[in-house]
Amino acid sequence: MTPQEILKKYWGFDSFRPLQHEIIDAVLNQKDCLALLPTGGGKSLCYQVPAVLNEGICLVVSPLLSLMADQVDGLRSRGIKAMAVNSFMSRKQIDRALDNAIYGGFKLLYVSPERLRTELFIERFKKMNVSLIAVDEAHCISQWGYDFRPSYLTIGELRELKPEVPVLALTATATELVVNDILQTLSIRDNLVFRQSYARTNLSIIVQMMEDKKTFLRKKLTKLEGSSIVYARSRLKCQEIAEFLQQRGIPAQYYHAGLSHTGRQKKQEQWAKGKNTCMVATNAFGMGIDKADVRMVIHIDLPDSIEAYYQEAGRAGRDGKESESLILCSDSDQRKLVDNFNRSFPPESEIREVYDKICNHFQITLNSGLNETRLFDLGAFANKYALKKSGVMNCLKQLHSEGFIELSEGLVQPSRVKVVSKNRSGQTADQESLQNIMDYLLRAYSGIIDNPCHINEDEIARNLNILPELLKKRLNYLTQSEYLEYHPSSDLPAITFLMNRIDTKQLNLGSSFGKRKETAQKRIDSVLTIIREVNGCRMNMVLNYFGEEAKEKCGKCDLCLGMNRILTKSESKDLKLAIDQFFSKKKTVDLSEIADCFPGYSKKQVIEICRELLADGVLEFDRTKLILCAKS
Ligand code: ADP
Ligand code: MG
Repeated sequence: MTPQEILKKYWGFDSFRPLQHEIIDAVLNQKDCLALLPTGGGKSLCYQVPAVLNEGICLVVSPLLSLMADQVDGLRSRGIKAMAVNSFMSRKQIDRALDNAIYGGFKLLYVSPERLRTELFIERFKKMNVSLIAVDEAHCISQWGYDFRPSYLTIGELRELKPEVPVLALTATATELVVNDILQTLSIRDNLVFRQSYARTNLSIIVQMMEDKKTFLRKKLTKLEGSSIVYARSRLKCQEIAEFLQQRGIPAQYYHAGLSHTGRQKKQEQWAKGKNTCMVATNAFGMGIDKADVRMVIHIDLPDSIEAYYQEAGRAGRDGKESESLILCSDSDQRKLVDNFNRSFPPESEIREVYDKICNHFQITLNSGLNETRLFDLGAFANKYALKKSGVMNCLKQLHSEGFIELSEGLVQPSRVKVVSKNRSGQTADQESLQNIMDYLLRAYSGIIDNPCHINEDEIARNLNILPELLKKRLNYLTQSEYLEYHPSSDLPAITFLMNRIDTKQLNLGSSFGKRKETAQKRIDSVLTIIREVNGCRMNMVLNYFGEEAKEKCGKCDLCLGMNRILTKSESKDLKLAIDQFFSKKKTVDLSEIADCFPGYSKKQVIEICRELLADGVLEFDRTKLILCAKS
C-alpha cells in the first residue's frame, strides 16, 4: 500500500497536509530528519503512517502521559496495534508489555523518556525489531529550549544501540540554537530538516497597553463571532474571569491543572462543541486541542517565552480564516513577569531543603528510591511542612529540570486492590459483609493475591447491593486490618525519583542551573523587547526570533496598522478635525466608547487628542458621569 492509501484506509483523510508526504517519504527511505511543523500541523501522522507501513515497531518518545494515552486509544480505535509504557505500571506490567512489543505484532510503542534509562527497557529494546524512533516534542532535548527535560538526552544513547534505525524528531517551536541541539544530540544524519515557515498569514498580532482588561474583554467578546481562548497565569484568575464573563452573558468556561481529569475533559469537550464559546485557561490548556473556529486568542498576562506565546496564539485560525492574537498588557505586568522569573529560580538552599523534605515525606532513605513513583498532594505537603505551595512547586520544577525527579501532571490512576492475606492465620474477616467483599474480590479477579488489580467500586457495590461509599469504607477497613491493600483512584500529580536519594550536601545544582537561568532570562527579555517595540512588524519580530528571515511586513499587526504610534502632525490635525465634526453632530459620548467611534485610530491616540481639545476648551468633561461633550 502507498502512504496515501494508508491515510485513507485508517484515517479516512483524502490528502496530506503540507510537508507530511515529504517527511513520510524520507522516513520510508530510511533517512533521519527533523520536522518543524506548527501546532496542529499533523506531526503524529508523520510517524504513524510509516509505522503502519513498516515491518517491526515504531518507538515513540513523548513527554506527556495523558497525551500518550489519548494517542494510543485513538490508534486502537482505528485498528492499529499500539501501546504505552508509563511510570504508573508495575515492573511486572512493564515486563509483560515489553514482551508483547517484541512478539505481539504491535506497530507503535509509546514510552516516556524516563523509561528509556531503565535496564529493563534497554534489554528489551535490543531484542525489538524497531522500524523507527520518533521523538515527539523534540525541543525538550535542548537546554536552550523552553521545556528542557534531561531524560531526553538518553535518546541519543539509545540510538547508539541501533544505529541503523532512522530517527524522526518533531517539534512545533525551535529557535536555531535548539534546532542545532536536536540535530547533534540525536545524531541526525545529513542534518535533514523539514521546515514550514512559522508565518501565519491569517493571524494579526495586536499588543494593547491597558489597565482595565476586564471591561475590554467583555466588550471584545460580546462582539466576537466565533470561539476564543483567554490565557491567564493563575488558576484563581481563570475562574474569576470566566465567572465575570458568564454573568455578562458570554458563554465562558475555565480550565486549569487543578481541576480533576474528568472535570477538565468535560470542560474541554463542551468548549470544543460550542459555537461561540470562550475558554479562560492557564497554559495547561492546549495540548491536543483541535478546534477550527477559534477567532481570537487573548493573553491577559504576559507569557514567559515567545515559544509558549506563539504556540498558544497559533490555536487561533486553524481553519485558515482571519484571526486575532491579542496581548493585553499593563506596566505592572512587565514587572510581574520579571518577579515571576526570579521566583521560578529559587536559591539553591531552598531547593535543597525541599528535596530533603520530599524524601522524608515519602520515607525514602539515603541511597534508595531510584524509579519510585509516588502520588503527590502538594497542598497536604505544603501544609505539613509549613511551606508555600508556589514555592514548593518552583523548587520541584528545578529538581525536575536537573533530572533528580520527574514531575508528571495529574493523571487518572484507577483504584487498585491486592489481597494480602486470604485467610490470615486461621482468622477470616469477622463480619459477614466483610467476608462477602473478600469472597467477591477473590472470585471476580483472578491473580488478585499476587497482583494489584484495577477495580471499579461502583460496579462491585452494585453487584454486592451496597452503597459505593460503604464499600469504600469497608475496603479501607480491610486494608487497616491487613487483609487488603486498597489504593483508591486519584488524579494527583506524581513524582518519580530518577536517582537514589543523595545527601543534600552533595546535591549540586552547579553550572547547568546557572545556564538555564541565563537562557530563561533571555527568553523573558525577548518577550519584553517584542512587547515594547514601537516600530517594525510584530509578526516579523516573532519570525526573526525563530531564525526566519521575513520578507515583507504582515500588514495587520498593531504596529503595521499604526495603532499605537504617536501620530504625525498632519495625522493629529485630521483626527482633531474628525472629533470636532463628530461633536458638532452628537453632543455627548461615554468616555469608554469614544475610541470605538474612530476606527483606524487607537484608544490612546483618540484620548490624547480629546485631552488636547479639552485643554483648548473645545470639549468638556463630566467626571461624575465620565462623559465628554461639546462645549456650548
Ligand atoms: P500536531 O502534533 O502537529 O500538533 P496532530 O498530529 O495532533 O498535530 O494533528 C492535529 C489534527 O490534524 C488531528 O486531529 C489530525 O487528525 C489532523 N490531521 C493530521 N493530518 C491530517 C490530514 N492529512 N488531513 C486531515 N486531517 C489531518
Ligand atoms: Mg503533537
